[in-house]
Amino acid sequence: MLKVLKFGGSSLADAAQFAKVKHIVESDPSRRVVVVSAPGKRFSEDHKITDLLYLCAAHIEYGVSCENVFSMIRARYEEICRDCGLDIDITGELDALWLKMRSGMDREELASRGEYLAALLMADYLGFDFLDAALWLKFRFDGTVDKEASYAALQQAADGRCVVIPGFYGAMPDGRVRTLTRGGSDVTGALAAAALDADLYENWTDVSGFLMADPKIVNNPQPIRQITYSELRELSYIGAKVLHEGTVFPVREKHIPLNIRNTNAPDDPGTLILDEIQEETDNGNLITGIAGKKGYCVITIAKTGLSSESGALLRILEIVNEHGVNVEYIPSGIDIVSLVMSEEKVKSCLYTMLGEIQKALAPDSIKVTEHLAIVAAVGRRMASRPGVSGRIFATLGENGVNIRMITQGPEELNIIVGVEEKDFAQAIRVLYDTFVKE
Ligand code: ASP
Repeated sequence: MLKVLKFGGSSLADAAQFAKVKHIVESDPSRRVVVVSAPGKRFSEDHKITDLLYLCAAHIEYGVSCENVFSMIRARYEEICRDCGLDIDITGELDALWLKMRSGMDREELASRGEYLAALLMADYLGFDFLDAALWLKFRFDGTVDKEASYAALQQAADGRCVVIPGFYGAMPDGRVRTLTRGGSDVTGALAAAALDADLYENWTDVSGFLMADPKIVNNPQPIRQITYSELRELSYIGAKVLHEGTVFPVREKHIPLNIRNTNAPDDPGTLILDEIQEETDNGNLITGIAGKKGYCVITIAKTGLSSESGALLRILEIVNEHGVNVEYIPSGIDIVSLVMSEEKVKSCLYTMLGEIQKALAPDSIKVTEHLAIVAAVGRRMASRPGVSGRIFATLGENGVNIRMITQGPEELNIIVGVEEKDFAQAIRVLYDTFVKE
């Protein structure tokens, strides 16, 4: 049995958090591969080490001294090292980094040092081997991860050992350090779990997994104990975020379950994400989660005979695409089609786009509806249950929420409604109260 664990920045913020990590790792002998982020905030006005490193890089770029910023970084690592009672020469490491920075250091390499130093400390603290991510996480020249080469390299390097790996970076074919996008240690952990065919990928953070709805909108929402990868994709696409979006693919591909856990409440089971759920252990709610986002606009194009005009929809989508805008949903009727898009993306090209559609199709009417919010109810148990969507629409209607758009995915995994932004929170609350059992 092998578990790969990733600890986020808040789990590494100081020596007290390091102690929690040690306790978690040592409580289960199958927890042999540990991926760490850089230390995060200890309190709300504190700074993340990675932010400070980027700040140093900006100072260097503009020729301004970053001594003060660097001393904050130095103090944090030296404090953790001292408070954890470690022998490792972290001061020597920091001195070497400072020297390298002053002789001109690449921005990505500098940003990656947050994870590098945290992993050195954690490896020493756990008595595990330090395994540099630059030795196995390999990028291609186009910036994509070469999974095959990376997996083979990690299998060889980690082989049966207990290791701590720094997250967030790897190496280019020429050996240069390259970082993933922000929050990328989640991805490093997922790649490591996939490479080593782990039985479980545990992602340790500061929340006990996903909640069924946003706690800023719904009072005390229930946690999601189990969710499928497909459901998670639907929920995170529309707004629920706990993981870096690149995290899921490597583990899902290998059918490895992913467990989101809370370092500060290690007894909480968190959320378990699986390919398929055989035995339903959740509380039998039809809905797994509810998510939503504001800031959409809808262009509705009506033309008699539109549905039989060959290539008409294609032409509309081409026009939108030429402006670099992504269409999120396309609800349609017989001679009418609506395009739901992000207001932000459409803002600069809306009128040009409308002009082009007018010219290309000569429609009977084009209407723009702004300030729409999208709310999605996601749930594997909704599939093939008649009447769920009817209940959703009726409940929203009874509660005074005016539905402007409805779409349902072909797999019946989600029901999506468009409502006015002013009804956004109310729509989420109504759906939650109706479909989630106390
Ligand atoms: N430390 C990096 C960041 O702050 C990567 C990570 O935490 O996953 O984005």
